[in-house]
Amino acid sequence: MHRIVILGAGFGGLELATTLSEAVGDELDVTLIDKNDAFYFGYSKLDLMFGRATRDAVKLPYREIAKPGVRFLQETVTAIDPEARRVTTDASVHQADILVVALGADYDYDATPGLTEAGNEFYSVAGAERLAELLPTFSSGRAVIGVCGAPFKCPPAPSEAALLLHDYLTTRGVRDACQISIVIPFKTPVPPSPDTSAALVAAFAESEIEFVPERRVATLDAGRSVALLDDGSELPFDLFLGVPKHRAPDVVLASGLTEDGYVPVDPKTLETRFPGVYAVGDVATIGVPKAGVFAEGAAQIVAASLIATLRGGEQPGAYGGAGSCYIEFGAGRVGRVDVDFLGGPKPTGTFREPSAILVKDKHEFGSSRSARWFGR
Ligand SMILES: Cc1cc2nc3c(=O)[nH]c(=O)nc-3n(C[C@H](O)[C@H](O)[C@H](O)COP(=O)(O)OP(=O)(O)OC[C@H]3O[C@@H](n4cnc5c(N)ncnc54)[C@H](O)[C@@H]3O)c2cc1C
Repeated sequence: MHRIVILGAGFGGLELATTLSEAVGDELDVTLIDKNDAFYFGYSKLDLMFGRATRDAVKLPYREIAKPGVRFLQETVTAIDPEARRVTTDASVHQADILVVALGADYDYDATPGLTEAGNEFYSVAGAERLAELLPTFSSGRAVIGVCGAPFKCPPAPSEAALLLHDYLTTRGVRDACQISIVIPFKTPVPPSPDTSAALVAAFAESEIEFVPERRVATLDAGRSVALLDDGSELPFDLFLGVPKHRAPDVVLASGLTEDGYVPVDPKTLETRFPGVYAVGDVATIGVPKAGVFAEGAAQIVAASLIATLRGGEQPGAYGGAGSCYIEFGAGRVGRVDVDFLGGPKPTGTFREPSAILVKDKHEFGSSRSARWFGR
């Protein structure tokens, strides 16, 4: 029996373990490892920070995973030897025939001086929870939503945060006393889709949100409460909500798997340069954005390939790099962008206007994954 070891039970790892279990079940020996005790959807952080949900309501505990052939272990990966396909954790050593690295992207807080002293971030569960406590105390002054480096997860998320902040402050009756600015390192909010970007820029204008494109927040000056941008310009703030610079987890950087910070893979098969070692999701460099839908799509290709190998069937076609992201426009509106990153000479995106159907679809997106992965 093949020993398949999956590192990371996020979007990629959960989808891979589930698909393998559904197809091959008890014939499998899959070990799924994560340092945390629960999974949270990325967008749950927006719900947490604006007080729309509690941690308990959005938490999906790993102990609920009951998949034939899959064993979940809560352990921290401390070393990866891709040559030997051997993994060391804080609890044991795991030898794999097939090793899949799905450890996501970590945050490099130190890359932005002043961020932890003078700012806040909303990209981790802990950061979003801190903001849920802080936001009710913000009633006047300038809030800056700032991206500290690209690539970053879910490119529309900072735009969603700005529009939801506008709603939040309006509901509290303090919007007139506050200014909101958003700083992103791209020319437009969602570069592959001009229509989506135009809709977001129009929503910013409607909500009187200042849009600062093509800029990255380089430093926060805690003494003066000023964000210094990468062109040397300054943006004063009373509340800073940051997207920290991302990087692969340290254990991956130390493994010899990375080049330029992330793990290069064959974009068709997701295999690394080490035979039998794959990387899926945010940890890999493959030419798609860092988002759950893409991690999931990549995991499905690896699953199909392993199932074909086990069953002697035909290998799947290449990974297509297409996916849809729901976008919160505020006032309860949800739109969607359907993006295709690898199908043509350049990435393309199609915008779906906000609608009641998309509100339902976004809910269904989350509930269908909780049901498949956690049996909820
Ligand atoms: C605010 C926000 C909103 C978002 N909205 C969306 C959205 O609407 N749609 C969408 O598709 N995506 C969205 N995303 C992005 C999405 O959450 C990520 O891109 C996705 O989770 C990536 O999946 P992954 O499997 O590569 O990594 P992850 O889901 O991050 O999983 C990696 C796992 O590895 C574990 N891990 C890391 N290091 C170790 C270690 N040393 N030992 C053991 N375990 C370890 C982590 O605990 C984690 O569970 C959003 C993200 C944010 C922050």
